[in-house]
Amino acid sequence: MDLSFDDIRAARELLRSHLPPTSMWSYPLLDAAAGTSVLVKHENTQPVGAFKVRGGLTLMAGTSPAERERGTVTWSTGNHAQSLAYAGHVFGVKCTVFMPAGTPTGKAAAVEGWGARAVRAGDSLEAAERQARQHAAETGARLVSPGDTPELLAGVGTVYLEILEQRPDLDAIVVPVGSGTGAAAACLVAEQVAPGCAVIAVQSSASPAAHDSWRSGDLVERPNGTVAAGLATGRGFELPQRVMRNRLADFLLVDDEQITEARRLLATAAHTLAEGAGAAALAGVLSHPDLFNGKRVAVVCTGGNADADELATLSRK
Ligand SMILES: *Cc1c(COP(=O)(O)O)cnc(C)c1O
Repeated sequence: MDLSFDDIRAARELLRSHLPPTSMWSYPLLDAAAGTSVLVKHENTQPVGAFKVRGGLTLMAGTSPAERERGTVTWSTGNHAQSLAYAGHVFGVKCTVFMPAGTPTGKAAAVEGWGARAVRAGDSLEAAERQARQHAAETGARLVSPGDTPELLAGVGTVYLEILEQRPDLDAIVVPVGSGTGAAAACLVAEQVAPGCAVIAVQSSASPAAHDSWRSGDLVERPNGTVAAGLATGRGFELPQRVMRNRLADFLLVDDEQITEARRLLATAAHTLAEGAGAAALAGVLSHPDLFNGKRVAVVCTGGNADADELATLSRK
């Protein structure tokens, strides 16, 4: 199970006919608040509202006719589910997603809207994972790990090709992390295209498994309490951790309140509706001014699927 820069380039060729490049802009009021120049890469404008669709399409494009018939199964709190559901619709692959019972109705509905099956299972992501594994064993469906699947990393890596080919002079790219596929792929791209650009990861202190895994050099389990669904994972994943190990420049933690502040700022200063995970990179910049002052920085707004609670907290001040 491995991944190279060439896989990311190949994914870009494949995705050309499916997804236009997303836009990247800076905003004076955002720069003023951050005290530095910040480019926002708008993955919230993807067809499922998140960058993960790049990984789902790359994976599904490579499935064999037999695999398409047996189908795929995965577990997710939302965006990975929508990504596979959408890609399954595009490539005619059956798709079943196990989602924790507490998943907002809208997220399950979005999955079903693309013709996939959403199954509510258990009170945690870990319970949903167990059920997905059991379903794969019983039906022969291909089990798709949201973290340890090279095709997903290759696909999401295309975000960073777009950013760094446009702006090879960047000092830093800040990437929100759940399982780490995006940050790991960003490291491989930066290494080849812009070795002077530091890739900096951000996770919520309420769900620090990827952060703690990277710091300790071990795959660890941690409490998983963040309200930002895209950052919610209880364990480190082998493949992204291995890729990040000697390549990631730094790994920051922010708290959920700092993420909410960053969502408000994106809404008012950057015309952008971000979900929690989509604002976490900006929260990392805002909360670490010493690291970013005077630097040319890009943050990825990874997703815009704000749930009802996230919408409600936008206006509270
Ligand atoms: C999944 C997700 C992330 C984290 O990505 P990983 O590749 O799992 O680290 C960040 N933001 C959003 C919106 C996501 O859906």
